[in-house]
Amino acid sequence: MQTQEKRTYQAVIGLEFHVHLATRTKMFCSCRVTYGEEPNTHTCPVCLGHPGALPFTNEKAVELGVMAGLALNCEVAPRAVFARKNYFYPDLPKGYQISQFDAPICTNGHLDVPVPEGTVRVGITRVHLEEDAAKNVHVGESGRMHGSVGSLVDFNRGGTPLIEIVTEPDIPSPEAARATANHLKAILQAIGVSEADMEKGQLRCDANVSIRNPDGSFGTKTELKNMNSFRFVERGLVRELERQQEILEGGGRVTQATMHYDPVTDEVHELRSKEYAHDYRYFPEPDLLPLELNEAWVRQIKSRLPELPEERKARFVEQYGLSEYDAGVLTADGDLADFYEEVAAQADPKQAANWTTGELQARLNEAGVEVAESKVKSGHLAELIGLVENGTVSRSAAKDVLGSVFETGDSPSTVVEREGLASMGGDELSGIVDEVISANPDEAERVRGGDKKVIGFLVGQVMKVTRGNADGGRVRQLLMEKLNGQ
Ligand code: ADP
Ligand code: ZN
Ligand code: MG
Repeated sequence: MQTQEKRTYQAVIGLEFHVHLATRTKMFCSCRVTYGEEPNTHTCPVCLGHPGALPFTNEKAVELGVMAGLALNCEVAPRAVFARKNYFYPDLPKGYQISQFDAPICTNGHLDVPVPEGTVRVGITRVHLEEDAAKNVHVGESGRMHGSVGSLVDFNRGGTPLIEIVTEPDIPSPEAARATANHLKAILQAIGVSEADMEKGQLRCDANVSIRNPDGSFGTKTELKNMNSFRFVERGLVRELERQQEILEGGGRVTQATMHYDPVTDEVHELRSKEYAHDYRYFPEPDLLPLELNEAWVRQIKSRLPELPEERKARFVEQYGLSEYDAGVLTADGDLADFYEEVAAQADPKQAANWTTGELQARLNEAGVEVAESKVKSGHLAELIGLVENGTVSRSAAKDVLGSVFETGDSPSTVVEREGLASMGGDELSGIVDEVISANPDEAERVRGGDKKVIGFLVGQVMKVTRGNADGGRVRQLLMEKLNGQ
């Protein structure tokens, strides 16, 4: 990215995530959690905030919250307390949100995030349980409040179980922020606490960002709100850091504010300045008992945690002999890691990693397709690796084969046959090798005289004539046989 060169400052970034938990019912009532259903069809007096209605805690949500905290290396509090966070908004019928304040369920964890330069350890300040607000729907073309002709409220979402995950300001760059978000998402999905589908709003991210003062202390931060794509988190942070730097270079001061990033214009603008800290008048929720998280129960949850991406990464390095980087790329996406393991069970593991992280992932990215939806199945890739290994197709032809499998879902051998992509062999290749030898008598003579370096040139000539449609190893072998009788 060309913005890299312009950076002379040190960025400080902390992230806050809101994650819907994969429960069947809401946080404090037994209404079902749904997505995309007819508005206001999953409500009851509790989640509509009727006076006198009493909430009760969803045990499954507590379990999933604890599980997330454990996966993020947190300490689980023996006692956690729900608190009322008071504010007015039409999507909050009670006039307060039930959240956790000074006694959250989990604190003091960390996450090791793989980045190209190595690993960034990001502290996890806290994980707490709360309920989501309902959803305001703005009527009008824009779909946003600005310019709408009216607003409606869909209470189906109100009361959906959430965890909020807050990181320490340990993240040094927009790229690392994106990597942190991706890594977190992979963990949440791997342990099954959330589908974390950003399109359904199951995972949302706020980014706090500042530029470090020359003396090393923290500068004033601003907050980028509610981004539902990690690409936008990265882009928004790049833009916001540029804005802050310009202010500082002009001798000005950054003021605390909430910012909005518009991906269409690739610009940030101020939503509201945050002159005073919010006063939510938190107090303990009188209608709910504190949570007593008994140690044996926590231990039992811990024992049920599946293999985490970090552990899987270490296993990939160990079991398949992959580089840390390849193992990190593969395990950052649980589906990709599953796919890889299927290929590695049937083909050379290193080749499997090269093809999966290289050629296949490039095509997936380009087409915007997830590996699970791809027409290339693990068996296809394993078969293709085998075809290269036994010399049936050259490496470059294999890339074309993969392209066709990607488009059609046909097996590699079908594609090779149909498109005539098999490597040249037998008499045809032997004939070409003879031609190249007679067309390059000097080089041929030097090889006969023991000069091994020149053989590469001759291999290249043969490959040129076959248009890359031959196996390099096979060509080299033929040349040696013909020139040296080996
Ligand atoms: P607030 O009181 O504004 O909510 P917090 O201290 O609770 O601020 O932190 C909220 C988030 O902002 C956390 O993710 C934290 O890591 C991050 N953060 C705190 N200070 C800074 C800073 N100077 N620059 C960037 N991020 C920060
Ligand atoms: Zn309800
Ligand atoms: Mg705070």
